[in-house]
Amino acid sequence: MSAVQRKGVQSLLEIAPVVDELGARFDAAGHEIALVGGPVRDILLDRGSKDLDFATSARPDAVERLLAGWADHVWDIGKAFGTIGCRKGDWVLEITTYRSESYDSTSRKPAVEYGDSLEGDLARRDFAMNAMAVLLPSHTFVDPFGGRADVANKVIRTPGSPEDSFSDDPLRMMRAARFAAQLGFTPDPAVVAAMTAMAERITIVSPERVRDELIKLVCSDHPRTGLDLLVSTGLAEYVLPELPALRLELDEHHRHKDVYEHSLTVLEQAIDLEPRLGVPVPDFVVRFAALIHDIGKPKTRKFEGDGKVTFHHHDMVGAKLTRKRMKALRFSNEQIDQVSKLVELHLRFHGYGTGEWTDSAVRRYVRDAGELLGRLHVLTRADSTTRNRRKAEALRSAYDDLETRIARLQEQEELDSIRPDLDGNQIMEILGIGPGRDVGEAYKFLMELRMDHGPLGEARARQELLTWWSSRS
Ligand code: ATP
Ligand code: MG
Repeated sequence: MSAVQRKGVQSLLEIAPVVDELGARFDAAGHEIALVGGPVRDILLDRGSKDLDFATSARPDAVERLLAGWADHVWDIGKAFGTIGCRKGDWVLEITTYRSESYDSTSRKPAVEYGDSLEGDLARRDFAMNAMAVLLPSHTFVDPFGGRADVANKVIRTPGSPEDSFSDDPLRMMRAARFAAQLGFTPDPAVVAAMTAMAERITIVSPERVRDELIKLVCSDHPRTGLDLLVSTGLAEYVLPELPALRLELDEHHRHKDVYEHSLTVLEQAIDLEPRLGVPVPDFVVRFAALIHDIGKPKTRKFEGDGKVTFHHHDMVGAKLTRKRMKALRFSNEQIDQVSKLVELHLRFHGYGTGEWTDSAVRRYVRDAGELLGRLHVLTRADSTTRNRRKAEALRSAYDDLETRIARLQEQEELDSIRPDLDGNQIMEILGIGPGRDVGEAYKFLMELRMDHGPLGEARARQELLTWWSSRS
């Protein structure tokens, strides 16, 4: 048994009970069913996941009937496309009737035709590593295109010729880049050549599908690999043209750094800082903002007379370009607002110097960032790629200082807003007294109580107040 196989055994044993039960159920009803695609590949890679994909000879109606009474919950993912979803314990299953798709090369969506064999179904899949299956309940491993060898060699190959495959569905070119980024695999030279020759074909694919692959790529472990591939094959020119545009030629004095290289490094540094966010990671918003924070630079670049280069207002221009690009890619309004706001604010900190901001400037920074403050911290810290260690250290410590000041101000403001559980009018009413020193004393007493114990609630505060009052008189 190879190391790859041995590693896979653990994940296989884990999913065995659920797939065997399902296999037995379909088998008893006279249908073929197999675990296919991503989960089979991931078993060999020992990448566990709770999502399981199956292919079956059963038609969607029969699948629904077989799942009822076994699964905890069944839903229709796209019955018209032959896919039924269900949940069983922690597992989320997608079961799709065998397909043999025929494509119209000018249309945006594949036309679906049901097929009658597992081999036929596997043949229309994107890559050999994704075209493996395990038949159930027999556990027969089916690998018609050498996917296992590809996984061992970490290569991305299409089952047939890449030209035919990408012509059937150009999104597969994006998927090649996404898998390179996710798995750290290398696309076969023939795959890269076809991506390069056919890059323009991506324009017939719906923006939503492109967007979803881009999100997965950016949220992967090695986004640089995938992004470099998009840029070097020319795909980025159609999908995210602002990215290759960052490869500005150096000016004659070689003064400014390559903005493209800088952006990839900022993205990687943002990924390293991501755990600070306190939100579920990977966080697409902070990563994408890090990648494109400087996209206003090419448009705003000016060569000043003295050999200096400036990029005035590249933050505002960049925020605008961000909006436009994300809209074209059909991102949600929320994500568009978030990323473009971060791009707009990414330079703001540079006015901080060594702590020259007034408290009100610090408050404005917090207010303008709003719910994005944590991400703005990450972005701004990541946006320092100077090789000068003293400079880098100075920036870091200035940002530490800013964060400390923000925390102190927030603490002070929280303290300032603390009130006792009862106000002056309530105190007078409860004690049956008019305005005077006693009310002030009572207020002070309740305030101390509130500081010591947190909020008491009105009833308890009333009691404490009466006890204090009677012990005093
Ligand atoms: P993950 O779910 O981890 O992102 P995956 O390999 O499961 O990776 P999905 O996008 O979920 O990828 O697709 C499931 C399977 O369907 C793939 O493994 C592949 O076999 C097949 N597939 C998906 N999209 C395409 C496509 N555009 N062309 C051909 N086959 C595809
Ligand atoms: Mg999947």
